Amino acid sequence: MLDNYKQQSLAIELIKRKARITTIQKATGLSVKWLRQAFREYHGYSARSGNDKQSIEALTRTNRQYKEVTLFAVCYQASEMINHDGHIQNIIQAFDVYKMLCPSSRLDFADAVMVSKDLKDQKIQLTNCPNCGAVVLIGARESYPEKCTVCRRVMS
Ligand SMILES: [Zn+2]
Repeated sequence: MLDNYKQQSLAIELIKRKARITTIQKATGLSVKWLRQAFREYHGYSARSGNDKQSIEALTRTNRQYKEVTLFAVCYQASEMINHDGHIQNIIQAFDVYKMLCPSSRLDFADAVMVSKDLKDQKIQLTNCPNCGAVVLIGARESYPEKCTVCRRVMS
């Protein structure tokens, strides 16, 4: 169990990145009331309530979104390989690297949490195109034949 100082500093790191209150609560064990108040003090407005979780399919609907999610997945896997600070810390680090590489992306921290979870659960996976070697995210777009976005080779 994290001590109180560590819990609160992790909570602030997550609040800065606008993580969902439920995500922060799960990661830190702090009270929802404390977290909501800290969020409001930090951002000057209240945290959104309720969970409007979207699916990985909805998050990768356009080719641009699909490429963004693929890039985040690459960042997350690299973070998992390098760091052993725990799942939520790896998401924070992957998210920061991702935002540096792709500052205009609309992928937010809640999306990052969802993509990381789907990768961990192996609902989605990264692989390399056998034709051109590009990184391909599979499992995210169930209704389409999976194609390499670089050379269009259909993945089997
Ligand atoms: Zn390819």
